[in-house]
Amino acid sequence: MFKKIISLIMVAAFAFLGLAGCKTSEEQQVTAGAKEQQPIIVQGPMPIEAEKLAGHLEEVKEEKSGNFVFYKGELEGYPVIIAKTGKGMENTAAATAVAIEKYDPAAIINQGTSGGHDPELNVFDIVLGERTVNLGSLKTGSLNEGQGIEPKEWIPMDLMASEGSAGEDPDAENIRYFDGDKELLAAAKAVKEEYDKGKVVEGTIGSADVWNNEVDRINWFHENYGTSVEEMEGAAGAQIAAAYDVPFLGIRVLSNNKVNGGQYNPDTAEANQAYVLEVLKEYIKTK
Ligand code: SAH
Repeated sequence: MFKKIISLIMVAAFAFLGLAGCKTSEEQQVTAGAKEQQPIIVQGPMPIEAEKLAGHLEEVKEEKSGNFVFYKGELEGYPVIIAKTGKGMENTAAATAVAIEKYDPAAIINQGTSGGHDPELNVFDIVLGERTVNLGSLKTGSLNEGQGIEPKEWIPMDLMASEGSAGEDPDAENIRYFDGDKELLAAAKAVKEEYDKGKVVEGTIGSADVWNNEVDRINWFHENYGTSVEEMEGAAGAQIAAAYDVPFLGIRVLSNNKVNGGQYNPDTAEANQAYVLEVLKEYIKTK
């Protein structure tokens, strides 16, 4: 009798586990659908670089984390989130990590204004970040008191080279570039013709919490790092996106170019956003 009860309980338990372990086909479809619909995140540092873009989405819902504002909406039926990150490397790094953890994005585009390092580029031209690099990650030479400051002797420092001391490790004396995602780049290149306010080129985006106005210093970065433009966010977003293996691309319009006398023009921000919208639509087609 006792054995019979035990075996009945076991049969019931197995039946329950079997049912619980197997999803209905409807549930499986929902899971698969949600995976295909991972959102695309577009980051903008300043209100003018995020709020207007958010205005192009449908069904927008606003969510906040710390200082960061996420405008969750849809573009042509596909989920897109515009993130207002705030300016600078720290804000961008944190906003990128928070967004990845919260929204599991398919891709991230970081966009906004920039200052030219390349004399061939004019205000309103756009640079697609084939690579992004941190221009603030540097090691100075070794000089004693009274020997002065020699910025041209500073060397790059790769903080990702090892877990040991970056100050002592010769492997860390390299420039760390983050590659732009191939598919995002392809989508951006495919819609170059849609932009008529300047040219669209592939190049290197340099970032640091610094606004360089010394032309010799700008030229030094242009020659040693191959920078096309500088801004204050791209490399921070790229580094965190790489840490999570999320496709990333920087898209930056020149709002100023000290090297060839290009005066600051804030209207460039909106021109870039219109182009980014075209890139988004093109990229969504491939999803
Ligand atoms: N005068 C501005 C300074 C900050 S703007 C103010 O007071 O608000 C900084 C923003 O512009 C950053 O988001 C950066 O990415 C971008 N930017 C545009 N041109 C730049 C340049 N030449 N150097 C550095 N950042 C630049």
